[in-house]
Amino acid sequence: MSLDRYREKRRFDATPEPRGRRPRPKAGGPGGRYVVQRHRATALHYDVRLELGGVLVGWAVPKGPSLDPAEKRLAIHVEDHPLEYFDFEGLIPRAQYGAGDVIVWDWGRWLPDPSVDDAEAALHAGELKFRLEGEKLHGAFVLVRTSGPGGRREQWLLIHQRHEDAVEDWDAAEHPASVKTGRTNDDVAGQDG
Ligand code: MN
Repeated sequence: MSLDRYREKRRFDATPEPRGRRPRPKAGGPGGRYVVQRHRATALHYDVRLELGGVLVGWAVPKGPSLDPAEKRLAIHVEDHPLEYFDFEGLIPRAQYGAGDVIVWDWGRWLPDPSVDDAEAALHAGELKFRLEGEKLHGAFVLVRTSGPGGRREQWLLIHQRHEDAVEDWDAAEHPASVKTGRTNDDVAGQDG
């Protein structure tokens, strides 16, 4: 777990994003916080980030997570982010990495599935089963790597597992507001820009 790539990509005198402190593995049980940020950059995507090993590990999901188990959502692995990114909402200025507006689209707690002994090892092996308990997202999910490991744009799928929390045809686009402030991406773009 390292923030080197995160920091290499950004100029902290030009972006409101946090530089972050040293990664701090949390004490206590498995799992931790999660956040999903709706990010209108060059293309709209939803950044799904799980607290793990003292950082936020993340995937950019172009169509967003779904509660419909029939939807297998492409998820591009992205660089680790600092824990301080958890509640980041704001406008990344033009010409900066990731330029565009960001809202805290969902947040809550995640837990590895009881079958998972070591979540970091599971991610290295290319499959993590976990639960989300958030404001918009609930229930069992799996992240499965579909491209070879390594490389800068590993491809994964994010899939809701079939069970009682599943909702057919559930679409992220119908739930656009921030759970932190109630703002939309347009609000953030207008207010901060
Ligand atoms: Mn992003």
